Amino acid sequence: MKLTEMSREELLEFKNKVQEEYDGYKAQGLALNMARGKPAAEQLDLTEGLLTAVSKSSDCFDDTGFDCRNYGGLDGLPAAKKLFAPMLGVSEKELIVFGNSSLNIMYDTIAKYLLFGVDEQSKPWRDQGKIKWLCPVPGYDRHFLICEKFGIEMINIPTDENGPDMDMIEKLVAEDESIKGIWCVPMYANPTGVTYSDEVVKRFANMKTKASDFRIFWDNAYCVHHLNDTPDKLLNILDECKAAGCPERVVMFASTSKISYAGAGVAIMGASEANIKYILSLMTVQTIGHDKINQLRHVKFFGDFEGLKEHMKKHRALIAPRFEVVLNTLENELGELGIAQWTKPNGGYFVSFNAMNGTAKRIVTLCKEAGVVLTGAGATFPYGKDPEDKNIRVAPTYPPVEELKIAAKLFTVCVKLASAEKLLE
Ligand code: PLP
Repeated sequence: MKLTEMSREELLEFKNKVQEEYDGYKAQGLALNMARGKPAAEQLDLTEGLLTAVSKSSDCFDDTGFDCRNYGGLDGLPAAKKLFAPMLGVSEKELIVFGNSSLNIMYDTIAKYLLFGVDEQSKPWRDQGKIKWLCPVPGYDRHFLICEKFGIEMINIPTDENGPDMDMIEKLVAEDESIKGIWCVPMYANPTGVTYSDEVVKRFANMKTKASDFRIFWDNAYCVHHLNDTPDKLLNILDECKAAGCPERVVMFASTSKISYAGAGVAIMGASEANIKYILSLMTVQTIGHDKINQLRHVKFFGDFEGLKEHMKKHRALIAPRFEVVLNTLENELGELGIAQWTKPNGGYFVSFNAMNGTAKRIVTLCKEAGVVLTGAGATFPYGKDPEDKNIRVAPTYPPVEELKIAAKLFTVCVKLASAEKLLE
């Protein structure tokens, strides 16, 4: 029966029962965590061979004889570019292979555009007064923190199952020259799991922007992270931008953080040749090159992009059951109560949970007090402010399955309790 259809007496009885259950969990002194979108230890073990792929001096040469121990290769090892270019669907000339973190490149790219402009001709963003950024919500907290740190004003853009609200985006970018960019996680988005529809991708490429130096930050962090046999498909935005006559509009990012090692992988940027050339011209002052031995390790371990995709099936075998635990628990415990909706993603790292308005913070607090840490309520919105206080990001990958079962169940108890409290207010 739906909670909203219960009489006050029925609700009170429901609440008392759930409270008892909650107190039972609390007494157990649990210490569980569903906050971290991290790979589990078993996932990291899958790439054990990476550690020995380059283990002596004579291993340090690529197929052209280039010595990876030495300086050079600002845009990345050619063999690494060959391996990773298909991941973003670009040519090797449209790619740079960096160090271990794509978030670092995103931060750095915004810093470059602020300081130097998006190309040789454009004014630096910092010289253009207040600048603004579009943020599809709920989204990735660390994207929003970058904008916040740089003093870039963020505008929330609602998201549905096709991606962000394009009517709203088209209107805003057509009218406001101070809007310089947008965060997009176009495939299995963090946290909604949504993959942008073809129409959304085409509209991004074809929309008119008042700012000539507008850039789409296309963070394709989960492009090979499928969870089942019916994976989503994403249109290649660089191809669409080229067809629309604005190849410079998009800068794409990805990394192997959730393919090899989250702490010691390889990150990439894909963009038009002109964009890449410009970024390299700035990078050449910044570094003489990234860790090419690690790039070579990845080449030796994965072989080619097909090998990398094969490897992702092993990740899937480990994390799909964890998603199943969470989704089954949500369905069994909350399915009939009419107090929440949640996503059932085909890939990525998260389940996005929408509770009743005004209860997310309370749920997170209840969980914490009973020993389950969740991502802070509000974290999925700019400035940490969820206007409806309803979204919670659930991360199933890290805890062992047995722990996850308990954590997911306790989470549903907290949702029930917070919802009953709200309805009784
Ligand atoms: N982008 C998204 C959408 C993420 O969810 C994450 C990590 O959770 C990152 C980037 C971080 O990437 P990296 O480890 O390459 O810095």
